[in-house]
Amino acid sequence: MSKQTQLEKIKATIMEQVICPELAATATQLVFGDGSADAEIVFIGEAPGKHEDLQGKPFVGAAGKFLNEMLAGIGLEREDIYITNIVKYRPPENRDPLPAEKAAFLPFLQQQIATIEPKLIITLGRHSMEVLLPPGLKISQCHGEPKRYNGNVYLPLFHPAAALYNGGMRQTLIDDFAKIPKILELIKT
Ligand code: URA
Repeated sequence: MSKQTQLEKIKATIMEQVICPELAATATQLVFGDGSADAEIVFIGEAPGKHEDLQGKPFVGAAGKFLNEMLAGIGLEREDIYITNIVKYRPPENRDPLPAEKAAFLPFLQQQIATIEPKLIITLGRHSMEVLLPPGLKISQCHGEPKRYNGNVYLPLFHPAAALYNGGMRQTLIDDFAKIPKILELIKT
């Protein structure tokens, strides 16, 4: 079975099992993930916002546009990567996802990662970092530093939505992003 077909099965299971029915009821649709099932890099955000909810794709609003610019800066397009969120329905009023919501979606995120087998997993913001990396990490301290954990290599980065309108954080995110090609090269050698 191809990786794409396996991903489609995971998506179908989320719907069949009616994960987070309260969120599903207020959201327009499930925002499962987008990009290449054969990607070397998987990006993981927090939860869909308004534009993502309407279009059914992650990171298509302002934060997504900024992300696309940073990808272009390192010679990548959205088709070259895979992108998803920890929580796959838009939380009402864009509130933070609840711990129970993150926990409910975590097994499916782990299945997506296990299917794609990326070389590098990039967490965007603290929510995806906290569910995938050991407890106690502070994003302000560990951003831009690759970490090996549970057989994967992770790179925690600031969330592009948080960095978008914060000059200092924006430059830090751009600088961290510029490290990605080198990190990928080191993993492969
Ligand atoms: N922010 C996220 O964390 N995910 C999206 O898909 C869009 C904005």
